[in-house]
Amino acid sequence: MTQPPTRITLASDRYERLAQIRDYFPQAAGPDLSPPWQGGRLAALQRLSAANAEEYARTRNQLSGAVTGLSPYLRHGCLSLPETVADVRARFGKRGHKLIAELAYRDYFRQGWYRFGDAIMQPMEQPKVVLGSQPMPDFIAQGFTGLVCMDDIVHQLQKVGYVHNHARMWFAAYVIHWLKIDWRQAAAWFESQLLDGNIASNHLSWQWIASSFSSKPYLFNKENLLKFGGESWCRQCRVRCPFDASYEQLQQQLFTDAVGDEKPITHQLHPPKSSPKGVATLVWVHDEMLSPSHALSAFNLPALFVFDPALYQAWPLKRLQFMADCLAEMPEVEVWIGATSQVLARRTQGRILTQDTPQKALKQAVSELNMEWRPEPQLTAASLSDHQLMRFSRYWKVVEPTLIR
Ligand SMILES: Cc1cc2nc3c(=O)[nH]c(=O)nc-3n(C[C@H](O)[C@H](O)[C@H](O)COP(=O)(O)OP(=O)(O)OC[C@H]3O[C@@H](n4cnc5c(N)ncnc54)[C@H](O)[C@@H]3O)c2cc1C
Repeated sequence: MTQPPTRITLASDRYERLAQIRDYFPQAAGPDLSPPWQGGRLAALQRLSAANAEEYARTRNQLSGAVTGLSPYLRHGCLSLPETVADVRARFGKRGHKLIAELAYRDYFRQGWYRFGDAIMQPMEQPKVVLGSQPMPDFIAQGFTGLVCMDDIVHQLQKVGYVHNHARMWFAAYVIHWLKIDWRQAAAWFESQLLDGNIASNHLSWQWIASSFSSKPYLFNKENLLKFGGESWCRQCRVRCPFDASYEQLQQQLFTDAVGDEKPITHQLHPPKSSPKGVATLVWVHDEMLSPSHALSAFNLPALFVFDPALYQAWPLKRLQFMADCLAEMPEVEVWIGATSQVLARRTQGRILTQDTPQKALKQAVSELNMEWRPEPQLTAASLSDHQLMRFSRYWKVVEPTLIR
């Protein structure tokens, strides 16, 4: 049954606020948002100023390395990508090269999402090896694979919602290449558990590992796990290690035939946008715009955010609480619970400003309304071809000169 739209006031006390979200979304799965994670621009700026690009370049592949933890903040718009890159460049100059390149990876995937739409949830190219099609077994989500490393990654994912990039790669490779699970199912589940979950970075990374968005499958072995993850997992593990082999042996054991080529198999462009009519009277703040310094606040229009059960009912509790933290720093934004289109239509008959997004569900939620989609802050002015968007190395060749001056 749909609830009538209700305006709510988020508690300024954080403890109360987290409890409030728990009450509003009794079906939301998983634990509360746990330290050190707290949503909002202030927390984002603290993380950004703590980021050390030189240490990052040296240690980022280690699980204990100096990674930034910026992804949940970039995902929700607490920080824009251009301002993040500008900060790194101002503080580190060319020594910020590696961190800027990784930040550009986010833009690369996101541009792919804008260009190809939700087709990125299906294979972009023929995979270069035969992939499995097993459905996701329950034991994965329950964290009972028997392998201490993989179970610990699942626990981190579900409890905290943040997992180091290398651990994400190991886990995805294990699921795709060892367990032969359909990567699309696994990717969707994985994305739904992350604080930084977004289809572009997530699904295209899964495809990169699978080899349907890369020239070969990504594999790892025990030596790699020990080198970058340390020994604590293996010391506790009591089962025969499926990763304890050379790459040649794994290649033989996991893949029989090579198939496929690089030709893109999905090209779904966004339909042209209709031009908005009338005078803008309202800003719709959606889940990628959660910053008090967002560019659209300059319009001085009433602004509102909607906790729409249709959009967020499958989100884990920690992520809803992260958004509530962000909104608590934006007192000028009205917060509502209800169906987005109903809330917006009730507040204005006029044109509604918002930031463009490749998220289909957000677009559908307001498809009947008079929307003006303003472009999100761009990392570069470069316009990229499909060919350049199919490989990061080609994309980077185009954007690097402007990003690393
Ligand atoms: C299977 C898999 C699933 C993933 N799912 C997501 C996801 O849903 N959302 C998400 O934001 N990232 C995803 N990533 C990419 C990457 O793992 C995370 O962005 C990164 O680990 C976030 O942690 P951080 O902010 O500490 O990263 P840092 O290493 O400190 O990097 C700084 C920023 O650069 C960007 N970045 C770094 N590495 C990558 C990368 N490989 N791809 C894209 N952007 C990158 C991120 O915005 C990140 O916040 C996924 C990677 C894999 C292998």
